Amino acid sequence: MKRYSAFAIAREATRYHSGWERAWRAPEPKTKYDVIIIGAGGHGLATAYYLGKNFGITNVAIIEKGWLGGGNTGRNTTIIRSNYLQDPSAAIYEKSRFLYETMSQDLNYNVMFSPRGVIMLAQTHHEVRGYQRTAHANALQGVPTEWINPQRVKELCPIINLEGPRYPVLGGLWQARGGTARHDAVAWGYARACSDMGMDVIQQCEVTNIRREGGKVVGVDTTKGAIDCDKLGIVVAGHSGDLANMAGFRLPLESVALQALVSEPIKPAMDVVIMANTVHGYLSQSDKGEMVIGGGTDGYNNYTQRGSFHHVEETVRALNETFPMLSRLKMLRQWGGIVDVTGDRSPILSKTPVEGIFVNCGWGTGGFKAIPGSGWAMAELVADGEPRELASAFGLERYQEGRFIDESVAAGVAH
Ligand SMILES: Cc1cc2nc3c(=O)[nH]c(=O)nc-3n(C[C@H](O)[C@H](O)[C@H](O)COP(=O)(O)OP(=O)(O)OC[C@H]3O[C@@H](n4cnc5c(N)ncnc54)[C@H](O)[C@@H]3O)c2cc1C
Repeated sequence: MKRYSAFAIAREATRYHSGWERAWRAPEPKTKYDVIIIGAGGHGLATAYYLGKNFGITNVAIIEKGWLGGGNTGRNTTIIRSNYLQDPSAAIYEKSRFLYETMSQDLNYNVMFSPRGVIMLAQTHHEVRGYQRTAHANALQGVPTEWINPQRVKELCPIINLEGPRYPVLGGLWQARGGTARHDAVAWGYARACSDMGMDVIQQCEVTNIRREGGKVVGVDTTKGAIDCDKLGIVVAGHSGDLANMAGFRLPLESVALQALVSEPIKPAMDVVIMANTVHGYLSQSDKGEMVIGGGTDGYNNYTQRGSFHHVEETVRALNETFPMLSRLKMLRQWGGIVDVTGDRSPILSKTPVEGIFVNCGWGTGGFKAIPGSGWAMAELVADGEPRELASAFGLERYQEGRFIDESVAAGVAH
């Protein structure tokens, strides 16, 4: 595949852009692969990419029932940070943030990583204590974060109202190298790189059954026919429970809709990301100028994958207190995705009761930031059959052993 470069853009400009190749192939499935990954979201694609790049395993298919990135990967508010409390979480999220720094060069695809800084606002004394504790933990973990006072919050984000009618801003947890990236580009960049390595990204192909023989996986049935495999990665976020069901085991997950919306585009108004967990809403400004607004999860389990009016009202009301200028904006569109939430708000990267099947799920409301790190760790798990250091704490056995990785403070939105 030809590399993208400034020279290529100049060359194509002189010939009416007639020389660009398809970014990825659209193959029909083969009868057998070494590894099948179900789900062409960021995590599935990143898993496949690092299987190829780090282990030379390229006889891989990534099977997607819709279009690639059409699940949560293309629906999120793109916040990237690694300021988690527990050591295993800080390790995997920081690995991920670090990989985001050079992802555009690594994939030869501009993912528009923008480390503009993330503030998590503290608006109650409970949050002050929680975030100060996280800042201390991060210092020990080698993750640069800082507790900042309200004046510093105002300097970093002049449009904020520090004296909210219900909750004043008491300070914040600041991660200067957190930020955002273009979500579709992350999926597209990985897909292009996987395709370039000879892997098959198969869209519009739903897995309808998982075939096993003697406790071992042998293949999947799909809407494009049966496909055999030696190993299978289930990386389908909100649909993980369904796929586990097909394989004959259960996962400790709940699926629930999480919503977001954007305003009409305006001139640059803020150049940081703000998360306000008490009033509940989070905000950043896209390159197009839209204010990107994250809302909450539904209060009941569902697979609706759409937004709802009462959430918009709740989220906009909360953010209007903190950013009064938002009240003057028109909202353009809203949407929802199905997130997979675990009891301890930490992901699952694990072997399963079926030999050869591995799961990567439970990233809940915060897995976009984890895509490269999760793909890296999942590739290690699939290639070796055992987790290496990054994934070792995230196995399913922790729920039997009571060894939870409690991230309810860092997870960011009301669950
Ligand atoms: C509104 C919203 C805002 C969010 N904001 C943030 C944020 O700011 N920062 C952050 O870090 N995270 C955020 N997240 C969470 C983040 O989007 C997810 O954790 C992450 O994208 C999960 O990626 P994935 O690859 O695991 O799943 P997905 O991107 O959902 O991919 C899974 C894929 O599996 C496919 N699939 C399912 N079943 C089958 C089947 N039977 N056969 C074949 N394919 C199948 C689906 O079609 C889907 O494309 C947000 C999520 C939402 C919904």
